[in-house]
Amino acid sequence: MNEMPLTPRPTIASVNLDHLTHNLELIRQCANGSKVMAIVKANAYGHGLVPVVQHLVKLGVEQVGVAFLEEGITLRRAGLKLPILVLGGILHSQIHHFLDFDLELTVSSIAKLRQVEAVAATKQKQAVIHLKVDTGMERIGVHSYSAKPFIEAALQTQHCTLKGIYSHLACADDPSSPMTMEQIARFEQTLSYFDQIGAPMPLRHLANSGGILHFPESHYDFIRPGIILYGIYPDPASRRILDLKPLLTLTSKVVYFKVVQPNCPISYGATWRSDHMIRVVTVPIGYGDGYRRALSNRGSVLIRGKRYPIVGRVCMDQFMVNIEWDSAYNGDEIVLVGKQGNASVTVEEMAEWADTIPYEILTGFNNRLPRIYLENDQIIPELS
Ligand SMILES: *Cc1c(COP(=O)(O)O)cnc(C)c1O
Repeated sequence: MNEMPLTPRPTIASVNLDHLTHNLELIRQCANGSKVMAIVKANAYGHGLVPVVQHLVKLGVEQVGVAFLEEGITLRRAGLKLPILVLGGILHSQIHHFLDFDLELTVSSIAKLRQVEAVAATKQKQAVIHLKVDTGMERIGVHSYSAKPFIEAALQTQHCTLKGIYSHLACADDPSSPMTMEQIARFEQTLSYFDQIGAPMPLRHLANSGGILHFPESHYDFIRPGIILYGIYPDPASRRILDLKPLLTLTSKVVYFKVVQPNCPISYGATWRSDHMIRVVTVPIGYGDGYRRALSNRGSVLIRGKRYPIVGRVCMDQFMVNIEWDSAYNGDEIVLVGKQGNASVTVEEMAEWADTIPYEILTGFNNRLPRIYLENDQIIPELS
């Protein structure tokens, strides 16, 4: 335990858990009264599943949501006890694992409901289920217009505990899209069946980050924040109404410095060259870590508080940066995401450069990148 932390690479993703505390507090204020189902799929949006959830437990989140069975099992094996909903579609062959690991299921059709009921009966267990209704995403779930028999079937099961009912918003990151109010109306229509039948209402949830920010009508009993927990807005169109702080900082160090003569091309494919003599440094991170190749000749990094452009193609493990005639030394810190002096690079900007969304940038950072966690401004020992 008191060994020096192993830092196999100078490239490090540091995750600021104090910022997670801060963001969650703002999110709770925004959706006053709703409980929180923190969404931690895809390795907690690239931040590290187990350490993030351990911190969320300390913050008292009521529940987490993951996409796949395996993510839920990883959390159980790490000793986490809080309720976990698996949001994705399920196959018959997976159902017994949900029961063994005490994971809540998303039931998205009558056929799947019957399968869950049958497996639970065989195992003499109670399956905890959330019904998934499709109000306009056309992904998984029973269409809201055919949800009544689905709900009736769920109410008649013996071995399923109907804990929740939910749907997912397709356009809530854009406050001006008319789609969200239509989806809310369809969800309301679906919920009204419970009153018609005279059955108790299960927990209702609908709001992703966009819904939380823009549509108070979507908050219901649980909110399901994903990207805003990590301090990033879902879309350029989203309203910046919360003072969110990004959790992720990505830094590396200069591992090589050289002078490049005029007209000498840089990196694979010889896609870039300078017409004058320049200084170039090499950065030891690449698309094999999730630092996207689309940033070739488009992205920038910070060195000594100043922004410099990536030149040539990003390789699997390295890329090059043009510092013109400025100085930099081997070992100098390079900030790829975060602040340095008065300069900063954000995940939103990287997404724009790479023609994608911040979600894809974040979830792309893989486990070859060493991660450290900061709490109370201190590095805490690796948790996972
Ligand atoms: C991913 C996901 C969320 C969270 O979405 P964000 O836009 O990151 O807030 C919520 N609900 C479901 C069903 C999801 O799949």
